[in-house]
Amino acid sequence: MAKAQICDLQQHLEVTQNLAKKRKNDSMERSPLTDRKINVETVADSNKNQAQRSRLPQPSLKRMRLNTTVDNIDPAVVVKKSVCSAASASSKGVSSRPSIGVRSQYGVGLARAIHGTEARSRAVNCAATVAGVIGKKPRVAVTAPSIVQTAAVLSCLGLPAVGSKKRPAWDLKGQLSDMKVQLGNMKTRVCEYTSKLEMSELQSRQLHESMDQRDKQLDAARAHINELQSNLKAVELLLKDREVELAKCQDENTAMQGVLENKLKMKEMELTQKVTCIEEQQSTIAEQRDMIVERDERLHCAEQERRRLHNTVQELKGNIRVICRVRPLLDSEREGLSEIQNVQFSASDEKVIILTKSEESHTGHDRKDEFKYDFSFDHVFQPIATQKDVFEDISQLVQSALDGYNVCIFAYGQTGSGKTFTMEGPDDMTCDTKGMIPRAVDQIFSTAQELKTMGWTYKFTASFLEIYNETIRDLLVTKPEKNVEYEIKLLNNKSKQLHVTNLKYVTVTMKDQVHNLIAMAKANRSVAKTAANDHSSRSHSVFQLQIEGSNSDRDLQCTSTLSLVDLAGSERLDKSQSKGDRLREAQAINTSLSCLGHVIMSLSSKESHIPYRNSKLTYLLQNNLGGNSKTLMFVNLSPLEENFSESLNSLRFANKVNNCVIGTAQVNRK
Ligand code: ADP
Ligand code: MG
Repeated sequence: MAKAQICDLQQHLEVTQNLAKKRKNDSMERSPLTDRKINVETVADSNKNQAQRSRLPQPSLKRMRLNTTVDNIDPAVVVKKSVCSAASASSKGVSSRPSIGVRSQYGVGLARAIHGTEARSRAVNCAATVAGVIGKKPRVAVTAPSIVQTAAVLSCLGLPAVGSKKRPAWDLKGQLSDMKVQLGNMKTRVCEYTSKLEMSELQSRQLHESMDQRDKQLDAARAHINELQSNLKAVELLLKDREVELAKCQDENTAMQGVLENKLKMKEMELTQKVTCIEEQQSTIAEQRDMIVERDERLHCAEQERRRLHNTVQELKGNIRVICRVRPLLDSEREGLSEIQNVQFSASDEKVIILTKSEESHTGHDRKDEFKYDFSFDHVFQPIATQKDVFEDISQLVQSALDGYNVCIFAYGQTGSGKTFTMEGPDDMTCDTKGMIPRAVDQIFSTAQELKTMGWTYKFTASFLEIYNETIRDLLVTKPEKNVEYEIKLLNNKSKQLHVTNLKYVTVTMKDQVHNLIAMAKANRSVAKTAANDHSSRSHSVFQLQIEGSNSDRDLQCTSTLSLVDLAGSERLDKSQSKGDRLREAQAINTSLSCLGHVIMSLSSKESHIPYRNSKLTYLLQNNLGGNSKTLMFVNLSPLEENFSESLNSLRFANKVNNCVIGTAQVNRK
């Protein structure tokens, strides 16, 4: 940019300089100032030529000499002075002015006549000639101009002489008159020259001023050029520095490029290695996937085998099993008793329980007969057994419910023997004391979660009811509507599944939801208990969890129901003392419990007709008792001696059940 600007300026300057030169030359050609450079000899030379070209009559030197001599006039002195003044003014470069060095009339006229190059040359020539002629005789004194001399001067000035005819010498008057006319003409011509001279002087001054301006401009332009040149030099220096830097950068770039190329090569090699590694890993992954699929298949087979074996074990144990549990003495019952008196356990065998009773001997007053009643069950839990211990024994049965088997667990025993404690837990339930129902729910949900990895998904539906005096009440409804009828019916003709009309079936997805339902049922039972005085001990409560499992990967479905039943107290009422409602309650309980016994016996003896419909309880549990289900009965005992006979009755009932072999359970699988 800067360079281009400088070039432009230089070009402009050159053009300006040329223009100035040209104008100067022109003005020099035109200006009278040019005369400054013309010396008198040159003027004289050029005047010779001019004289040759001039049409004016040339004065004869001879005549002039003659006239000078005759008339004693000394015009040469005047002319010489005028010419010298004019020449002096010209050589000094000052324009000739009429005032400079001109004192005589002729000098003024001559000086004024010197206007314009041509006229001036002629005047100078003439004056020089005159001066040259006169110079030869400088000592001649001239007092007055003669007519001849005047004519010579006029001739020198290029003015025509008046009258073409030469007047005779004696006609002085005529000659004087001619001279006057000539003088007038001369004056006119002199005026013209003067005005022309003034014009020239004005032009000259203007040209001078213009030239001064041009000079100034030229100086300014030169200064600008100098400045630009110094700038250019600075820029060139900067440019050189930059070029050096650029060269450095290029070297660095080249070096860097080399390093980067090396790095790139390294990375490419690494990438190639990694790609190879990834390919290897992908093939390994593919192999492992195949192995996983194979293992899944094996796992599935193993799971199926486990279920089969598990249920075979359950079958071997018997599809109906009995567990006996003796509750500990309550704080209020410990007065006077340090330990349980009439219940004994075998140290070596966890399946045995012995009831003892000493009675006065019929043979003598001193002897007391000791009566022992031995019973053997799947497991006998002593009072110290915890809820956890007990649940461990039934957890495999709960597992069967997820495998698609109907499972029914119920607690049988007299009021206060610990049925509700075992099934639900105490009122102030903790994590340690929670009963079989909440534990079964926990296990079901955690196992269902584990089975998800094997493709199983489950849907759970919970219901909670009680049967009192052969009437069903929904424990999940706090304020039941009046005259609502709960009837047990087949869900549809195809399936054997039963359901209770108007009963609330709640779909549950988390165990906590079920715990809340259990708490609600417990609260609803307590309200009834207050209203009807120990109502709960004379009603059966039934918690049911319907399980629907599906394995979409293998197109498998299974349905089952887990029923957990807290039966009414099995104590027998003295019929002779029972009247009204109490009698009806007792009869209802007796009916349903004896019905339960009959159903189990009938199943055991494989009778063609099983009397399920004889009680609401057996009808409701129809699918959970018998061939297609696994049943477990808790027989709960009170440790108190006063409850001996009820305990004995319970153990006898349990023993009957325990001796039953109820068909082979079948999985409900499609
Ligand atoms: P049921 O339901 O058979 O009438 P409960 O379950 O109400 O009997 O038990 C009666 C009392 O005995 C309750 O106070 C209960 O807390 C207590 N109880 C029952 N079994 C146990 C046990 N295994 N450990 C501690 N207390 C128990
Ligand atoms: Mg109870």
